[in-house]
Parts: sequence; C-alpha cells; structure tokens
Amino acid sequence: MFRDNVSKFVYSAVLAVLMLGASSNAWAKVALQDVRIWAAPDHTRIVFDLGGRVHYKLFTLENPNRVVIDIRNAYGEKGSYQNIDGKGLIKSVRTGVRNGHDIRVVLDVQGQIEHESFALDPNDQYSHRLVVDLKPVGQQPQIVDDEPEITIAEPQVPDGTQKYTPSLRVVAIDAGHGGEDHGARGPKGTKEKHVALAISRELAKLINAQPGMKGVLIRDGDYYIGLRERMDRARKYDADLFVSIHADAFRRSSARGGSVYVLSSRGASSEYARWLARRENASDLVGGVSLKGKDNTLASVMLDLTQSASLEASFDVGGRILSQMGKLGHLHKKTVQQAGFMVLKSPDIPSVLVETAFISNPGEEQKLRSSHYQKKMAAAIFDGVHGYFSTYRPAGETVASAGAFTTHKIRQGETLSEIAQQYRVRLNDLRAANNIRGDVVRVGQVLTIPTDS
Ligand SMILES: [Zn+2]
Repeated sequence: MFRDNVSKFVYSAVLAVLMLGASSNAWAKVALQDVRIWAAPDHTRIVFDLGGRVHYKLFTLENPNRVVIDIRNAYGEKGSYQNIDGKGLIKSVRTGVRNGHDIRVVLDVQGQIEHESFALDPNDQYSHRLVVDLKPVGQQPQIVDDEPEITIAEPQVPDGTQKYTPSLRVVAIDAGHGGEDHGARGPKGTKEKHVALAISRELAKLINAQPGMKGVLIRDGDYYIGLRERMDRARKYDADLFVSIHADAFRRSSARGGSVYVLSSRGASSEYARWLARRENASDLVGGVSLKGKDNTLASVMLDLTQSASLEASFDVGGRILSQMGKLGHLHKKTVQQAGFMVLKSPDIPSVLVETAFISNPGEEQKLRSSHYQKKMAAAIFDGVHGYFSTYRPAGETVASAGAFTTHKIRQGETLSEIAQQYRVRLNDLRAANNIRGDVVRVGQVLTIPTDS
C-alpha cells in the first residue's frame, strides 16, 4: 500500500516535468542566426545557424523548381536571413514569416533537385545547424569510369623479369577541410582551409608542368568533401599517389614547423578489415584481379600485400617531402609520423598527409598567408614527389609482379600440376586459391597464382 503510493507519486512528478519540458519547448522561439551557402561542382550546401534544435519541413515544388524549408517556431536575428545571394544550384533565396511563428525559406533552384537534410549539434565553431544538401536529379558522377573494371593481367614471366613502361603518374592533391569545416584558425583569423587550397593549387601547377605527371585537385573551391569521398575520387582519377595538405595547430602558440604523416598500422588494420568486408566491390584494388569468390585467406593475403606495399611507398615519398621541407624551414618532427588519419586509408594508393606549418604560431601564420611562401612550400612538396617517382622502386617486388597478383590463362594442353610447377606453388594452394576441387581446368580459364610464402 505504502509502496503503491510512493510509486504513484514518483510517476506523477515525472509526468509534470515532462510536460514542463514540452511546454517550454513549444513556446521558446529559436533564433535563426545566419545562413551560408557553399557551392561545390557537383552539389550545393545551405547551412542554417540556429540558437537551438528546431523542427522543420522540407519539400520541393516544380514550375519553377523550388525547394521550400519551413523552420518551425523560429525568428530571424537582425536580418540574418535577408538578402542572401544564390550560389551554385541555388539561383536565389527568398524568406518570410509564416503562420506568425515559422520561417519559410524558398530556394529557387536550377533544374530538378535531389535533397538531403540533417541537423547538427553544436561544435567548437558553430551552434546548432540545419544542413541541406542539393544535387541535380540523376546526376552522372563527375568522373566517368565509376564501374570497377575487371581486367586480367597477362601471364607474368616466372623469373620475375618485368618490362618497365613509364606511364602518366597521377597525383591526387587533397586540400584539407573546406566549406563549413574551416580547419584550424590562426591568431589573425587565417583559416587552414584557404591556406591548404592555395598550396594545393601551386602544387598542382608544378606537377602539371612536369612531363609524364598529372596533378588533380580533389577539392578546387571552398566546399566540403567527405573524407571517404576524397579517397574515392582519388581512385576514380586512378591516382598513383595521394597527398593531403594541411596546416597544424596547437594550444601552445610556440609550436612550429612542418611534419609528414603516413597511416599507422592500427589505422591500417581496422580499415583493412572494412575493405575486406567490402571485397565484393573491391575488384580494382589488387592489380585488376577481382577478390570476388576468393576465400577469406587469399583475399586477406592480397589486400595485406597491397597495403604493405602502399605503406612502404608512403614512407618513401613522405621522407623525401620531409627532407625538402627541412631545407625550407623548421621541422616539427624530423621523421615521418604515423597516425590513423582517415584520408590515408586507401590500401592501394600510397598516401601522405603534410602538415605544412603551425597556423597557430603567429610567425608561421604570417608565412602561410604569403603567396611567396605558399609557392616555396608547394615546390618543396613537389621535389619530394618528383624524387619519389623518378627513383623509387619497392624493396620487394612491385605489387603487380608479386606472386599473389599473378594470373595465368589456361592454354590448350596445359594441366593444373604443370602450372603449379611453372610458378613453383603447391598444387593444393593453387586449387584452394581458385576454388578448384579436382584437376579439371578449361582452356581460357584464368587462374590466380597464390604466393608461395
Ligand atoms: Zn587540417
């Protein structure tokens, strides 16, 4: 009896608090503080800065094409949402008050639009935000060749000799941050995203002036690209190297100098598990040989080899960049560092991240702002990259000629045991690698030759 009363009391108290919470939410209006638009080549992002969480409704209208966003229970802070210029896919922005307590934002857009919207909680730069991403309906990917192509390599000469044919070296240059994400900020307010892009553009110019080399900018404007998307774009460009450009920051303003990072093995192994899980789509990862249908062990060996070859190359190019940067100025770390940066996680593309200097250091911020220094920094990175392409040969075999990636097309009259002998692999390993039970092979069948280690 007593217990029943107590629980009833507790229950009603909780109910009252809930109602109080609900009612205060219902009447407190949320301030719309600012509106920003970022235009990327393939999408446009509009961001609403808000004093708190909001309810909103978003829908599209045709003739003419519009996107309508109703922000419930909100008011505009001193002209925050008036006179906003259109950008990218947004031709113009109109705003008004609706039902006395909502803000209606109408975006006049180019063509038919797909939209995606989400709310973000405050971080150290921004308050609550509502983010709306717009892209054209049925947009083709920016870069063609989206489908992974399965090409089977010609049989390798067993003694390991391989012709070296110079081909175009593609360097994907990734200017860190962008758009909403400013990166670090200097004492004078210099934003890392701007410095990173300026140096990246200089680097691209130098690379493109070099015969046999091509520099592609992953981001070429003030907009944000997701980290995974940055890696994906590099792959679509068929990049041989990925260089991410940043500027460092630290609480202590005396911290100074550049550093270069490659992926840490811990970062590599967690990502590697992920890639492995997605191996159905990963046919382009290992020298054109599909991992589809391969058992886990073989797939893991193939990815592992690819990843260690990439990391070895990353260390090489990173060391060269670092020593060039050392000629230019102070180094924060004199050896190549390892960290689990997301953008470095492509298992098949050697990747480095360059922290050019400390933007939080007043002297280095000053340098980073000057186009003269930006050019010199780009030149130092370029020298490292160029040195890598002209002289680097992997300590082991190249990825393409490593045993795991060799394939063999069955010709008339060949038997499985002959092929095993030819490549010096055990017959059972050869069977396992190709899911073959007995000895039956057919002419034209392409076998994967496993490593003999
Ligand atoms: Zn950064």
